[in-house]
Formats: sequence, C-alpha cells, structure tokens
Amino acid sequence: MEHNKTIHAIRIHKHGGPEVLTWDELTVGAPGPGEVQIEHKAIGLNFIEIYQRDGLYAMPLPTSLGSEAAGVVLAVGDGVKHLAVGNRVAYASGPAGAYSTARNMPANHVVKLPDHVSFELAASIMLKGLTAQYLLRRIRPVQKGETVLFHAAAGGVGQIACQWANYLGVRVIGTVSTDEKATIARAHGCAEVIVTSRENVVERVKALTDGKGVPVVYDSVGKATFTDSLDCLKPRGLMVSFGNASGAVDPVPLTMLAQRGSLMLTRPTLASFTADRAELEESAAELFEMVGSGKIKININQRFALKDAAQAQTKLAARQTTGSTVLIP
Ligand code: NDP
Repeated sequence: MEHNKTIHAIRIHKHGGPEVLTWDELTVGAPGPGEVQIEHKAIGLNFIEIYQRDGLYAMPLPTSLGSEAAGVVLAVGDGVKHLAVGNRVAYASGPAGAYSTARNMPANHVVKLPDHVSFELAASIMLKGLTAQYLLRRIRPVQKGETVLFHAAAGGVGQIACQWANYLGVRVIGTVSTDEKATIARAHGCAEVIVTSRENVVERVKALTDGKGVPVVYDSVGKATFTDSLDCLKPRGLMVSFGNASGAVDPVPLTMLAQRGSLMLTRPTLASFTADRAELEESAAELFEMVGSGKIKININQRFALKDAAQAQTKLAARQTTGSTVLIP
C-alpha cells in the first residue's frame, strides 16, 4: 500500500529544558504489519514527557515525544483484526510519538472509543485514568473504610484517582502545595487535605489516623517525599512509588523498610499493567464506565496548540496546572 503522509511532530534532538522541543515536518509511510495509522485529534500532556525530555528516562535521539492521544484510524496494516479505517480510537502506552499530527502505532496498544467519550476527553483520561485504575484496583485493591495518602491530589492522575478511591468508600488524605489546590482536591474525592507549603505531612497523617498511619501511600512526587511517605505508613503498609515529579528517588536500603515494620515497596509502570490485551480492554472499559456514568468528573483545565507543547510542559513542571491538559494538533 503506497501511503506516504506528511505530518508535523514535536521532537527532541538533545535532552534539556523546554527549549529543546522542535516542530519538525516528517513523512510517515504506510502502517507496517500489526500497526495502524492514526490521525490525532487530541493529545494528552503527562509528566512522563518531561522525564523523557530532560533525560531522566533516556531515549535514543532524535525522538518524538508523547504517550497518549486520541484520533481516527486512517489506515490499517496487515494482521490487525480489531480496528478498521474510520474507527475512533485512543492509546496510552507503547512507543513515544503522540505529540504529532498523525503517526503509525502498534495496534495492540489501541482501543476503540465508546460514542460518549470525545477525543479531548479520551486524551485527558487514557493515561491518567488507566494509571488510577491499576493503582487502586490491581496493585492492591483498596478496601472500603480504609484511609490512604495520595500525593499531588489536585493534579492529573490525582484528581481522577482521589475521586475513584472516594467512590470505592476509601477515605483519602490528599497532599497539595497551595490552598487553591486544596479546594480543588476537596471537591475531587479528598476527605482531608494537607497543604505541604505550611503543614508537616507525617504529623498531620498521624493526627488524622489516631497515631497509626495509613496502609497505603501513593507517591508520585518521588525524591522530596519518599522518606516522609514511609513514615506515614503503618507496619506492613505498602509504599507505591509511581513517579518522580521532584526528582528520582535515591537508592533505598532495605533496612528502611525493616525499621518501619516490614513495609512493602513497589515501583509500578502503566506499561506493565496494560501489556496484556485483555487487561487493557478490561481496564479501559472500566474507566470509560466510571467517567461516562459521571462517577468521576474530568476537568480539562488547560488547552494548548500542539505546536506550543513547550509552554504546556513549562506550566506542568512549575506546578501551575490542575487536572488534565490537552494539546490540540
Ligand atoms: P500532575 O498534574 O500530577 O503534576 C505533577 C504535580 O506534582 C504538580 O502539580 C505538583 O502538585 C506535584 N509536585 C510536587 N513536587 C513537585 C516538583 N518538585 N515539581 C513539579 N511538580 C511537583 O502530573 P501527571 O498527572 O501527569 O502525573 C502525576 C505523576 O504520576 C507524575 O509523577 C507522573 O510521572 C506519575 N505517573 C506515573 C505513572 C506510572 O505508571 N508509574 C503513569 C502516569 C503518571 P502540588 O503543587 O500540589 O504539589
């Protein structure tokens, strides 16, 4: 099939700050076996792209960026059975390249969108919502009535996860950096909010749990919060360290877990929870139902043209965004 298409993509040719993002014209050929070609209608902005850009998650260069997008299937490669030209689709893992007007994508990462999920909505929930799904429902299913600590509660993943946990009957203590974000977190599932710029997280968590601590901490802030998060856990509690917004966590001696009473520690990735096609379909269906039924409200609080991805990343890194951010090609 002859199918060359001229596209534009945000790429990096070297690691660095937002200034290394370039707007490149490229040619994409026909999708290969097992691939589909997708014209993007909306693209999700996620913190992972900042790690990729600055080199914390090093990638062979030059590379396109972006992990999450929604759009329409333009062409289908050999062997792809579950998708057809014209399907409305989205994805949240697989090779980087979502920051583009169109691309070829391994079809096993791509799901069809129900009619009630718009492109912008899909681009704002696929990565963040599937992350919330595996954090709460699969790493260790949360239990009704228990209390958990969730950092960055007013952020993209945070708003979705805290609403979901609240729906499941969990009492969520959220952390945020400002009083404005505290109001947002309270409106999105947090029963209690700790404002990190003026409150001590460990002391407040202890006070809110009769001195006992929580059974699970969800920590995407990383370096700055890791040790405090361990100190918020009750003995045999689970530390879910799933991000590095403040920098990568230093190496962890196992004695840190032993001294605090047989703590458990996991460092999960969305990719490993969506690699199995059946698990991806099941998790996405659950997410679409939670959002479609109104149990989780999605706030797209920032929109940027794809070309302005550098501005969008700058705001995300500077803690100036809340909820989801989409890039429009
Ligand atoms: P957010 O919208 O949550 O933005 C990050 C937030 O982290 C900020 O708004 C800020 O909230 C908080 N933060 C604390 N310290 C810092 C700091 N030094 N610099 C910047 N932000 C800081 O982003 P996303 O929803 O895109 O992602 C949330 C986290 O989840 C990221 O760490 C990301 O890497 C991780 N993630 C992990 C996945 C996995 O499978 N492992 C998958 C998806 C996301 P505040 O100002 O309130 O403190």
